[in-house]
Amino acid sequence: MKLVLIGCPGAGKGTQAKVLSEHFHLAHISTGDLLRDQVKSGTPLGLKLKTIMESGGLVSDEIVSQLLRQRIAEDDCKNGYILDGYPRNVSQAEGLDDIVGSLDKVVLIEVPDEAIIERMSGRRSCPVCGAMYHVKNNPPKTEGVCDKCGGGLVARSDDNPETVKHRLDVFHSQTAPVIDYYDKKGLVLKIDGTKDIDVISGELIEILEKL
Ligand SMILES: [Zn+2]
Repeated sequence: MKLVLIGCPGAGKGTQAKVLSEHFHLAHISTGDLLRDQVKSGTPLGLKLKTIMESGGLVSDEIVSQLLRQRIAEDDCKNGYILDGYPRNVSQAEGLDDIVGSLDKVVLIEVPDEAIIERMSGRRSCPVCGAMYHVKNNPPKTEGVCDKCGGGLVARSDDNPETVKHRLDVFHSQTAPVIDYYDKKGLVLKIDGTKDIDVISGELIEILEKL
């Protein structure tokens, strides 16, 4: 099975990718991880990538395609794979067709922007022990204080509502054409991402098992 997983930041894409990859024995391929692995490996390509990424530049589609091609040739991809974070634009989607042939489904996890903003702006973490909280969904016993170690909880600066809103706008403008592209091919499977994680996984598995 070959899947593409699309969801905005905070939609729970990573969690679902993990569940699906375990259930169907699929490799979970994140292009971000692929790039970071190259950098760590210190190959000539890795060194080149390091320079590009450190200067805030964009890695070319050509390089990402090349890495993807190598990755899906690996043993753990024999059963199939889930692509997470790719393609981000139509030209990448077209390139992907050349690399993987036909996809089985493009799973779109949909969560309204307001819900994402609430999810992300309510996150708090403990800088001492790393524990994570949410002011509404998973509050500490005492407001602002870590249950485990008594550390003072902090919000990440990029979780503030304005920043999250901006990231969502960027996501929608980049992704809408990709969703259209796959919609025309009849591949898009829309899932309501506001439900509980287990409910979403259950629905996804049930639908995908029938493919
Ligand atoms: Zn703590």
